[in-house]
Amino acid sequence: MTQDDGKWLEQAGPRTRAVRAGIRRTAEAEHAEPIFTSSSFLFETAEDAAAKFSGETTGNVYSRYTNPTVRGFEERLAALEHGERAVATASGMAAILALCLTHLKAGDHVLCSRDVFGATVGLFENTLKKFGVSVSFVSLTEIGAWRDAATSNTRLLFLETPSNPINAIADIAALAELSHDLGALLAVDNCFCSPALQMPLLLGADLVTHSATKYLDGQGRVLGGALVGREELIAPVVAFNRSCGPTMSAFNAWVMLKGLETLDLRMRAHSDNAQRLAEWLTDQSPVEAVHYCGLPDHPGHALAGRQQQGFGGVLAFELAGGREAAWRFINATELMSLTANLGDAKTTIVHPASTTHGRLSADQRDAAGICEGLIRIAVGLEDLEDIQADCDRGFAAILSP
Ligand SMILES: *Cc1c(COP(=O)(O)O)cnc(C)c1O
Repeated sequence: MTQDDGKWLEQAGPRTRAVRAGIRRTAEAEHAEPIFTSSSFLFETAEDAAAKFSGETTGNVYSRYTNPTVRGFEERLAALEHGERAVATASGMAAILALCLTHLKAGDHVLCSRDVFGATVGLFENTLKKFGVSVSFVSLTEIGAWRDAATSNTRLLFLETPSNPINAIADIAALAELSHDLGALLAVDNCFCSPALQMPLLLGADLVTHSATKYLDGQGRVLGGALVGREELIAPVVAFNRSCGPTMSAFNAWVMLKGLETLDLRMRAHSDNAQRLAEWLTDQSPVEAVHYCGLPDHPGHALAGRQQQGFGGVLAFELAGGREAAWRFINATELMSLTANLGDAKTTIVHPASTTHGRLSADQRDAAGICEGLIRIAVGLEDLEDIQADCDRGFAAILSP
């Protein structure tokens, strides 16, 4: 919330906060949020400069760590996640890196769910290991496995729920309790749900990480990331950004700010389209299984129903006939975009085993439920009938090759 916000905003509903939080009135009295594309900011006097530099007074200094447009995005996102403060970063991976370099040190141990984003695995396995931070990967859904893998040096539990692409669901509240028993922080990558559908901080998580590149922008225009949490956990990350520099640009922050205004409507439309597509796919004869947490027979359905406000836009389904069938299906589609991205108004389709999860060994892919016949669709905002017609092109190509 800004100094201009009345008390009413703190009590306002999520759609109101998405449109109204993080705005400052400027001398120009413009209505849309302004983009401050300035690398540095002027001081009134030498005394003012000294006070702002030392942190004695707050105010804009240099856009690596203080930019009004970026702050507007941070305040709006914090209001939606119910966090005290947010910090924006250049990408989702920059947010996770900033989290780790700020809150971990050599000798610390991390517990991470096995099904996280590929680059997150790379960050823990390759980069952080060089600096003496060890990591164990555990099953997202088995609390006992997390407890068994913990050590006296475990300082961070990191997870992504729903998982990509099969929608496995972690019990955030139970893992928050475990992490606090261990004296560790729980960080949740909230990319798939966004705060419109899931607020991990309200379930006990300490930090939320975002790839703002996905649903927060929602139209595939820019890269960005963010961390949200208590002031005491975010302030050191702001200091990290100041000295290390993985900052979000003012332009990208402006795109994200405007993206948040329609987030709730978009997430409901993504979820609605995904639910109806998942149900329809279940009835198609070449489909052996559909993985979507909105389906009653999905193992995570009840838990997702309790801790989420909707089931999200990403689903996966399995075709008999393995990779050959999956590739034939994908190559016959015309509307869906063949790209690894998600969280876009445009529906995207991808074959995880040969792309996003291609670096995993066959055993690791089996453990993650990524078989050769699996296709992921990140359902967009087009008319459902047109997405179904595109899938019908795929089915026709399998049935009469
Ligand atoms: C895309 C993604 C990331 C990484 O975000 P970038 O903005 O691409 O750096 C992290 N986590 C999840 C779940 C993602 O989908």
